[in-house]
Amino acid sequence: KSNNLQGYAPICLGYEDFYTRRLYLRIQDCFGRPIASAPDSWFDVVERYSNDNNKTLRRTEKTTKCLNLGSYNYLGFAAADEYCTPRVIESLKQYSVSTCSTRVDGGTTKLHTELEELVARFVGKPSAILFGMGYVTNSAIIPALIGKGGLIISDSLNHNSIVNGARGSGATVRVFQHNNAPHLEEVLREQIAHGQPRTHRPWKKIIVIIEGIYSMEGELCKLPEIIAVCKKYKAYTYLDEAHSIGAVGQTGRGVCELLGVDTADVDIMMGTFTKSFGSCGGYIAASKEIIQHLKRTCPAHLYATSMSPPAVQQVISAMKVILGEDGTNRGAKKLAQIRENSNFFRSELQKMGFEVLGDNDSPIMPIMLYNPAKIPAFSRECLRQNVAIVTVAFPATPLLLARARICISAAHTREDLIKALEVISKVGDLVGIKYFPVEPLKP
Ligand code: PMP
Repeated sequence: KSNNLQGYAPICLGYEDFYTRRLYLRIQDCFGRPIASAPDSWFDVVERYSNDNNKTLRRTEKTTKCLNLGSYNYLGFAAADEYCTPRVIESLKQYSVSTCSTRVDGGTTKLHTELEELVARFVGKPSAILFGMGYVTNSAIIPALIGKGGLIISDSLNHNSIVNGARGSGATVRVFQHNNAPHLEEVLREQIAHGQPRTHRPWKKIIVIIEGIYSMEGELCKLPEIIAVCKKYKAYTYLDEAHSIGAVGQTGRGVCELLGVDTADVDIMMGTFTKSFGSCGGYIAASKEIIQHLKRTCPAHLYATSMSPPAVQQVISAMKVILGEDGTNRGAKKLAQIRENSNFFRSELQKMGFEVLGDNDSPIMPIMLYNPAKIPAFSRECLRQNVAIVTVAFPATPLLLARARICISAAHTREDLIKALEVISKVGDLVGIKYFPVEPLKP
């Protein structure tokens, strides 16, 4: 009756994460490989994404097309968009794939400056700066903003790029309980004597780092509460909107728009182009002074090759569609579609008896598996039935909180979603993960 379909004989080892101060168990298979990265837990090597906005993928030449419920292509701009793709091809001809130069040498094209202005306007900040990679945006920017003598207070479930940036900065790092504003206040109160003037504080600077939507939880940030605490204690806020910018809010402006927060209350707005915009790279949007400071001092701006021009063009085009500046209302339709798709899918999964994490409107839907031995069983069975779903486990989650993570796209049709629900329901029964049995309706 075991669900251990892969036939692993797990071996448990102790492991402490010094950042979160949590004790984990590491489970390995009998060959010493961590179970979470067992060979066919994910999609193996993808042969190709199809020309249907990345809605499907082909794992190998021999396999049939799979419905893609695993990529962050929230608005369906990835691959073959009627507005973006021809413009990206043009930019490739004009500028080539790489500038082979840093921003301060020959790597600033007209496209780079256009996108910086567009990003600032889109997110509602005075100025913005681009980076070639979202991960690097966090890991290189945080050390450029704060160092020794500074204090970072980081949500316990922040992304690894933030953890690395915080660790590399030399600042003191404290962690507050996930999305818990009262605990943030406790940590802040502990660290500073409340009410003292800024000059008497023991820290040169305090930055609180949070995410708009938590990528392993599908959960929206409790932004208004957290901002209120930061204002009270005069701490700067740094908001990573990798999963929320373009994906939520009436006009795609992210969690600030969704939760009615004034962007002036967020000091540093970070985001990536790898999700809603179907491209690569990242940005920081902030005051003119902060962006000038980054342009003068941040090594990832001064010494790294600038963002690839076709990737820049992809974001410009996608943002213009979202803003309605392509002359159609396709952007508004996509935003309405992702909201409708996400809320439909989440409520159907819940009705089936799955334990689904996250909030309404969030396109990320983790289904709890708990037991790591269920990971390969779930993902392999779904793949066999041509639905590609990512499973996540230790070390991305605590060991016994393994989950399957569904990412919904505006490119999915109602038919696609119903087909996926049928497969997930069957596999859910097989693997035994419907933790909330649904009572039959009484006549
Ligand atoms: N921040 C968060 C919250 C993320 O989830 C990710 C990656 N998914 C990144 C930053 C890094 O972004 P990228 O993949 O664009 O490098």
